[in-house]
Amino acid sequence: MKFYNHFDLTSFNSYRIKAKCNRAIFFDCEEEIQEYYQKNKDTKNVLLGSGHNIILAKEYYTEDFIIFNSNFNKINLTEAGLLEIEAGAMMWDAAQFALDHELSGLEVFWDIPSSLGGAVVMNAGASGEEIKDVLVKVRYLDLTDNTIKEILKDDISFEYRNSFFQKNTDKIVLKAWLQLKKGNKEIISEKMETIKAQRWAKQPKEFPNGGSVFKRPEGYYVGAIMDELGLKAYAIGGAKISEKHGGFIINYNNATGQDILDIITEVKKQVWKKYQIDLEVEQRVI
Ligand SMILES: Cc1cc2nc3c(=O)[nH]c(=O)nc-3n(C[C@H](O)[C@H](O)[C@H](O)COP(=O)(O)OP(=O)(O)OC[C@H]3O[C@@H](n4cnc5c(N)ncnc54)[C@H](O)[C@@H]3O)c2cc1C
Repeated sequence: MKFYNHFDLTSFNSYRIKAKCNRAIFFDCEEEIQEYYQKNKDTKNVLLGSGHNIILAKEYYTEDFIIFNSNFNKINLTEAGLLEIEAGAMMWDAAQFALDHELSGLEVFWDIPSSLGGAVVMNAGASGEEIKDVLVKVRYLDLTDNTIKEILKDDISFEYRNSFFQKNTDKIVLKAWLQLKKGNKEIISEKMETIKAQRWAKQPKEFPNGGSVFKRPEGYYVGAIMDELGLKAYAIGGAKISEKHGGFIINYNNATGQDILDIITEVKKQVWKKYQIDLEVEQRVI
């Protein structure tokens, strides 16, 4: 376990918003996590995975930040043939592990920047595949009674970019078991690289961003809506709507969280006015 005071969060959020927190804690095992919550029942804290789906709205946080970002990150193949992954493991490492073991089912995660915990909470996915498709079971710490529990996929009420864990923030994902299919190494690798190349051609990878800002409204594409409204390149402060992909906001010049939130407010207003669609923000505002 590692503790840091007055911790700089800039490289722990993919927008690279400059912010600090009073204390950051990186755990290495379940026992440390459970003990921390037992001893710090009244301490306010914020939970982060790899920070690729968050907007830091403040410059300084008095809360403890519990961070699962390449710590608490073991990946194993169980005797029953399931992939057992700890919350802080990165999904692209899990995809690489699956490839090494000739297992198919995680190819899309080769290019989704996410911890295992974040992927479960957000039901992350792409190209019509989601984490729920391969998930068997999740182990979590229930803060209501500080006990460790397990829940099967069917009880997690997964929806598009939503899950039981997003609605119950007093549950901390510790680990998950995934069922993958035996596959051919070359075919798996080709799928991983093809999806990655397609995504890199479309996304503004050259600027810090947090991926799609809004959930896709049924029957529409956010990028196309931005085009129609002439909102591509619309900027406030150091943030702007990407010219390359209208569904992304980029930090092109020292953006603050507030710059991003102000763009979101304006976009929601204009989209409502023209389409009567209430765009739902996918990213978590902290
Ligand atoms: C360039 C780019 C491309 C992206 N493409 C995609 C895509 O194709 N598909 C997609 O679905 N998403 C995509 N995203 C968004 C992001 O990758 C996913 O939402 C991802 O699952 C977030 O995981 P994270 O570990 O970064 O979570 P964070 O952003 O750190 O956290 C997200 C939420 O999960 C909670 N959380 C994190 N870990 C835990 C835990 N262990 N227990 C309980 N709660 C937890 C946090 O409190 C927070 O509310 C993209 C983002 C970027 C920057």
